[in-house]
Amino acid sequence: MLREDSLKFKGARKRLIDKVGKLMKDHGVEDNRVLTAMMEVPRHIFFDSVFDQKFAYENTAFKIGAGQTISQPFTVAIQSALLEVKKRDKILEIGTGSGYQAAVLLAMGAKVFTVERQKLLYDKAKDVLPALGYRPRMFYGDGFKGLPSYAPFDGVIVTCGAPYVPEALIDQLKPGGKAVIPVGDGDTQKMLRIIKNKDGSTKTEDYGDFSFVPMLQNTAK
Ligand code: SAH
Repeated sequence: MLREDSLKFKGARKRLIDKVGKLMKDHGVEDNRVLTAMMEVPRHIFFDSVFDQKFAYENTAFKIGAGQTISQPFTVAIQSALLEVKKRDKILEIGTGSGYQAAVLLAMGAKVFTVERQKLLYDKAKDVLPALGYRPRMFYGDGFKGLPSYAPFDGVIVTCGAPYVPEALIDQLKPGGKAVIPVGDGDTQKMLRIIKNKDGSTKTEDYGDFSFVPMLQNTAK
């Protein structure tokens, strides 16, 4: 497995990030820190084989094993921007998958706690992320429950399609914290941003349709 960056990959990455930046602007979202972080993280290294790596800098989701996908770069960018991550923020991610989204948040200076229900993917990401110098706290478990013993969090990001807003995840937000969750159990989900007010009440914003693999209950081998 190729675990190196190269000029060729860097060039392809630059072209992808320029494209993602334009798409974000079209959606009325701008955040250069997200684009800088995505320029830093070598997305191809999260792919399974040298053959698959050829597709790493296309703006598409891609299979990573266990029936799961690494999210489309544009989706990673939008979710990261909606979180409005500040340095040293504590972020809870549900759905570690390949580990790519976690790496982008770490590159933005966040402290990342990430939960994955598939053992195979949890084990793979536990190997890849530290090899690249990214060190999130990683947990094998059910994301519907969140991580109550590490709460509260400044932000929660769910990277699978949730059938409904998991209450436990909103409970684990700090006042002023934000959760970015794709919600819907069909082929598409609405990207919701739920902001917790100081008095504990919440405000929900809708950022349109996206398509994710489903969020499933309980852990899987
Ligand atoms: N953030 C990932 C995206 C992976 S796809 C990346 O950057 O590659 C979504 C992931 O959510 C899958 O790996 C899937 O196994 C996981 N998932 C689904 N339901 C879950 C749950 N209840 N708890 C934790 N992870 C879950």
